[in-house]
Amino acid sequence: MANTKKSLNYGRQSIDNDDIQVVIETLKSDFITQGPKIPQFENSIKSYCGVKFGFAVNSATSALHISCLALGLGPGDILWTSANTFVSSSNCAILVGASVDFIDIDPDTLNMSTSCLEKKLIKAKTNNCLPKIVVPVHFAGQSCDMKKIYELSQIYGFKIIEDGSHAIGGIYKNSPVGSCIYSDICVFSFHPVKIITTGEGGIALTNSKQIAENLKKFRSHGIHSEKQKMRKRDPEEIWNYQQVSIGLNYRMTDIAAALGLNQMKKLNKFVSKRREIAKFYDSALSNLPLKKQYEIKDSKSTYHLYVVRLNLNYKNITQKKVYEELTKLGILVNIHYIPVYRQPFYEDLGFSLGYCPESEKYFKEALSIPIYPDMTLSDLEYVKECFEQVLNLK
Ligand SMILES: *Cc1c(COP(=O)(O)O)cnc(C)c1O
Repeated sequence: MANTKKSLNYGRQSIDNDDIQVVIETLKSDFITQGPKIPQFENSIKSYCGVKFGFAVNSATSALHISCLALGLGPGDILWTSANTFVSSSNCAILVGASVDFIDIDPDTLNMSTSCLEKKLIKAKTNNCLPKIVVPVHFAGQSCDMKKIYELSQIYGFKIIEDGSHAIGGIYKNSPVGSCIYSDICVFSFHPVKIITTGEGGIALTNSKQIAENLKKFRSHGIHSEKQKMRKRDPEEIWNYQQVSIGLNYRMTDIAAALGLNQMKKLNKFVSKRREIAKFYDSALSNLPLKKQYEIKDSKSTYHLYVVRLNLNYKNITQKKVYEELTKLGILVNIHYIPVYRQPFYEDLGFSLGYCPESEKYFKEALSIPIYPDMTLSDLEYVKECFEQVLNLK
């Protein structure tokens, strides 16, 4: 092979000197947490997405947890999400004592199938077990069919939390993902493999004042400090906050927010770069026995992941063999995702093999190949050459 061996992960952060500089400045400032960088970071995301309220937290998992709390999910309630997602999208329900169910995917978009969702809703209505919350996941950065899901929510009376962990910078029907036009809340993740990073971090966005108050409260111990809302007791008592419910400490630090704020400046550049890489792969891999994720017309994916589905009828390739051979060549592919209900924890709750057939079939064919803004043309050529070698085309 022309190129020497490389080591390319399926995803990674992009950190420049200016990112490092802003973190150092914050470390030298008066506040390294609960300072000015948090609202600045929140404002930059709010204005980018065109949404009214936003609360930065220490992970998207935390954002999902407080979102469930903010919408009043609890024991006796049900949350539905896609089978093809990271465990956080459903764990958030378990954490508040609710139960979970899963919707199968559309085999082309790899997102929650709205026809499966609709069928399941019709059944649930008859059986009196409708979900209180549905969590669509914008898989790999492509928005779900939010308009359809929103229409169903109006008929069946559920709330919507978009898990946009992959999708900051994406577009759906001419609006940024995160605008919450078709949802109650949208969350993003800032883990290093995602589109922008704060190390660990996340945010919950909403247009509802009521939900916003709840998110803010649950992020920080169930405490608020609004004078006019304080319970009045001894008029001589001097005190400046009150705890009114049980909450957590899910706050982001100013160190992380400073990094996030600087990364926001590069968001559009990151997404364009990812889309260029996707375009390269689309054509470079087009003659290989692979299928790619179908991109719907009225959305723009961020390509957090570039997922291929292997044609397992081709020669005698297996997913395991391709995975191992590519890894040996330094292409650190991954699989997104094992259907969540195939995790032992969910198996123990009673879910079993065959529950979401499309998600299971996809899982057996899927590979996420390297895609991140700092990839060079030589990296991309290397991936192409290795793929051709492993699939015995060269
Ligand atoms: C990464 C991810 C999360 C969790 O994000 P963290 O910030 O790591 O907590 C949740 N949902 C999806 C779909 C993700 O990819």
